Amino acid sequence: MSDSLLITGFGTTDEGSWFNRPMRWAQLTLVENDPGRFDPDFWLNYFKRIHADGATLSAGGVVAYYPTDVPLHHRSKWLGSSDPFGYLLNGCRKLGMSVIARTDPHATWQNVYEAHPDWISVTSGGEKRRHWADPELWVTCAFGPYNFDFMTLIHKEIMERYEPDGIFSNRWAGHGICYCEHCVRNFRDYSGMELPRVDDEADPVYLKYTEWSTGRLKELWLLWDDVIRKQRSTSRFIPNGFPDKVITGQLSDIVFTDHQARSGFTAPWANGRVAKELRASIGMKPLGGIFSVGVEEQYRWKDSVQNEAEIRVWVSEGTANGMRPWFTKFSGVIYDKRWLNTVDKIYQVHYKNEKYLRNHYPMARVGMLFTEQSPVINHEKWQKNSEDHSSGMYHALIEARIPFEMVNDRLLDPGHLKAFRLLVLPNIASLSDEQCNQLRRFVDGGGSLLATFETSLYDAQGKRRSDFGLADLFGVSYDDGVEGPMQNSYLRLKKNPETGLYHQVLKGLEDAYRIINSIHRVRVKPTSDFPSPVTLIPSYPDLPMEEVYPRVEDSNIRELYLREIGSSRLVYFPGDIDRTFHQILCSDHARLLNNSVRWALNEEPFAEVSGPGVIDVTVWRQEHSMTVHLVNLTNPMLMKGPFRELIPVQAQVSVKIPEGFAPKGVQLLAAGLEPKYDFDGNRLLVSVSNIYDAEIIGIDL
Ligand SMILES: [Zn+2]
Repeated sequence: MSDSLLITGFGTTDEGSWFNRPMRWAQLTLVENDPGRFDPDFWLNYFKRIHADGATLSAGGVVAYYPTDVPLHHRSKWLGSSDPFGYLLNGCRKLGMSVIARTDPHATWQNVYEAHPDWISVTSGGEKRRHWADPELWVTCAFGPYNFDFMTLIHKEIMERYEPDGIFSNRWAGHGICYCEHCVRNFRDYSGMELPRVDDEADPVYLKYTEWSTGRLKELWLLWDDVIRKQRSTSRFIPNGFPDKVITGQLSDIVFTDHQARSGFTAPWANGRVAKELRASIGMKPLGGIFSVGVEEQYRWKDSVQNEAEIRVWVSEGTANGMRPWFTKFSGVIYDKRWLNTVDKIYQVHYKNEKYLRNHYPMARVGMLFTEQSPVINHEKWQKNSEDHSSGMYHALIEARIPFEMVNDRLLDPGHLKAFRLLVLPNIASLSDEQCNQLRRFVDGGGSLLATFETSLYDAQGKRRSDFGLADLFGVSYDDGVEGPMQNSYLRLKKNPETGLYHQVLKGLEDAYRIINSIHRVRVKPTSDFPSPVTLIPSYPDLPMEEVYPRVEDSNIRELYLREIGSSRLVYFPGDIDRTFHQILCSDHARLLNNSVRWALNEEPFAEVSGPGVIDVTVWRQEHSMTVHLVNLTNPMLMKGPFRELIPVQAQVSVKIPEGFAPKGVQLLAAGLEPKYDFDGNRLLVSVSNIYDAEIIGIDL
């Protein structure tokens, strides 16, 4: 590990291990009637053509694609004497690819049901659970002997016969609460309780169940990993998802995330967000981003193909955020061939520029907290849709073009925070005393904070405190509840009466006089002196129109608290401005949030991007270079896909070059061009024309 990695806190795996080598993955998930029908050489040739260097191939579980001898392990009815898994595995090895075997334990057959009825999952009504999509099959229990005994034998057999680099299990972690005899007894032994009847995150029994089921899956992970390593020490069990990212970071050497495409109102940046949230706990361990070439809506057209623009922008978001692309295709027989050229184009550019994609660490200086395990605070009506706070803040940071990372709220030790100058807390309502102390230490060390709404008002158990846990940093105390939803309320924007100037957070809003308010506000009272750039205009009637005039023209109630303590800057919004932004996307709120983040950051971001459009900006350091990724999200289908076409934008980019370095060469990696650039000894200036899905500025240092 180089010194710079130690400095930033983004750890990595041993660079000499196989985990780091593959950069472009290919997954072929066979269907039962593929053997004898599909052409394995077509696939091997395709893998070669696209320079895929890692493959995930169907091996066993619900269907075996090799001549298994494990009793009850169902061989494909079309298998005959063939071994398509072995054939593909050997072909991939000849191409120098790493190979992972894929198993799927979640479903099984009637003969297994008859031999071991206790292996089948049971519903809350006490019925054995039929498979919801395939009535021939049964759903298995993830926490009992089907996985712990039967699948262990299968994993052992696959390892003994083929020694793949790893085994990846799909749908291995269960589908809701199982009421089989093993789960009833094991949970009772663990907790002294009966299984919860519903999954309600506010229910202490359900929380206990989550603790038990997560622990049970961790045991299973370690059991399978042990069986795998005994056969081949460098091989690993690779779960497709685990309910705890911190444990994922501790146990994994390589991680894949199964977030295949957009559906409904998913924003295209959602793929990058998943990468950032995982990186918060896995550091710079290799992260594969599984993307579907098909449509991922609820009706699950698994044989479908998305159009090129949509696939490209989704993968670009992943790549810009440190994912290694992994396409997944179901069925060895292809009906619609259009996706083949799309993936080819993506992988060719990736291959050509591989050294600029082997990232050492992200250079973002802003970290946004997210919470994975904290109790969901939803007792009150103003606490509904709490996930909109982080989505709104995320979207605001994208629009602001500020490079940022996500920070897991359970990893707030100095090592995990040292890369950051500013932490953003979008209504992180529940924080333990220890977490508050960690944030205090961050501020004591010169770090800045921006927080909204009920941040720190609840303790680790979700119990309301008498005051904010971070009241001393905010400089305000909780006063008298939450007001809202507020109809027709505004924020008054004011000059400093002494200087006659507007505060930096109001840049671009000088002529507004007032802008719309957020929908809710926490009532607070200041405990120290503050400027008053933003104050409340309370709600007033919005009908009849004759009565629509403010009853209070102005007030001295601040809706934005700005403080400086030493070199730290602290911003607190009592309103739910981030959630409001997610719901109505008001451009004034985007500007106010952008300005506030920049004021709190109090330094120029590594990359500043000007020009029209919506562009996600990330900045990375590699061994001898740095890159600026510009993902072009400018599209009428931004907030509900799919993209129909890529609409090129251009941008002027200013990049801060790390001290002691000068650019030795600059390339636009996607376009394959060497642009003209200027360097003033500190910042590099370059114009980028025609950004389609994304451009990557590669700067040799
Ligand atoms: Zn069970």
